[in-house]
Amino acid sequence: MHAVAATARWTAAARAKESRREDAIFTDPYADQLAGLEGTTLFARYDNPGVGEFISIRTRYLDDLIRRHAGLGQVVLLAAGMDTRSVRLPWPPGAVLYEVDQADLLEEKDKRLAELGARHACDRRAVGADLTGDWPAALREAGWDPAAPTLWVAEGLLFYLPEPAARLLLERIAGAAAPGSVLAGDLLSHQSMISEFSREGLRRLTEDGCPWLFGTDEPEEFLSGCGWRVTELRMPGEEGASYGRWPWNPPLPREAKGFPQNFLFVAANDRPL
Ligand code: SAM
Repeated sequence: MHAVAATARWTAAARAKESRREDAIFTDPYADQLAGLEGTTLFARYDNPGVGEFISIRTRYLDDLIRRHAGLGQVVLLAAGMDTRSVRLPWPPGAVLYEVDQADLLEEKDKRLAELGARHACDRRAVGADLTGDWPAALREAGWDPAAPTLWVAEGLLFYLPEPAARLLLERIAGAAAPGSVLAGDLLSHQSMISEFSREGLRRLTEDGCPWLFGTDEPEEFLSGCGWRVTELRMPGEEGASYGRWPWNPPLPREAKGFPQNFLFVAANDRPL
C-alpha cells in the first residue's frame, strides 16, 4: 500500500474529533475505530490552526452536496479512504455508491466495518484501483454505467497527485461522464504549497512519504481546462462553508498572498445532450 493511505486514517481521526463534540456538525460513529492509533497520532503530528476545522467543514459541505445529488443514482467517491457515508447518510432506493481507492486500504476498512457490525444504507461497491491507472475499467467492471449521470467526489485527493495526473484524472472523468454529471471536491491553493505557515506541516508530510504535490490559485481555470465548469466555489469560513467551525472571522480574502487556502468546488460537465 502506498504511504498516502495513512492520510485516510488522519482524516478519519479529524472526523472522530468532530463527532465527539456536543455541537457536532456531523457524526461518524466509526471514525474513531477506523482512524486507530495511527490516525490519532498523525492528527496530532499534522495539527495546525485550521487543519482539523477544514476537514470538518469539508466533510459537512460534501455530506450536504451528496444528499442533494444522491438522486442521480450513481455516486463515485474517488479516493474514498475511511469514508463511511455509505453507512451514515440516508440514501434513496436504488442508489449505488462506488468507492475507489487502493485495494488493500478498502479491504482493511471493510474488515473493520464488518467487525463493528456496520450496515451500508445503499448498494455500496468497493473498487480497488490506482487513480493514475486504468480505474475506468475497474469501475465499469463493478457495474458503473457510463451512460447515466454520476456524482463524482474528489475529497482530499487532488493535491496528493502530481498536477499532470490530477488533470488527466479530471479530463478522463469529463470525457467519460454522461451529460448532467456533477463533480465536487476540494483543491489546495498554490499559496498553501509555499506559505511559511504550512512549511512545517508539509515537511512532515514529505518525511512520511505523502507530500502535497499540487495546488492552484486559479481553481476555476484549472477545472475548466479539465472540462468542468465551476458552478459553486467556497473557501472555508465563507457563507455556506463555515458551520461555526472556521477560526477566523471574517475569513481571509481570496487574493491574500502568503497564507494557506483551500477551495471547495462543485462543477458541471457541459457535454451536449
Ligand atoms: N476522501 C477520504 C477522506 O476525505 O477522508 C480520504 C482522503 S485521504 C487524505 C487520501 C486518499 O487518497 C487515501 O485514501 C489514498 O489511498 C488515496 N489515494 C491517493 N492517491 C491514490 C491513487 N493514485 N489511487 C488510489 N487512491 C489514492
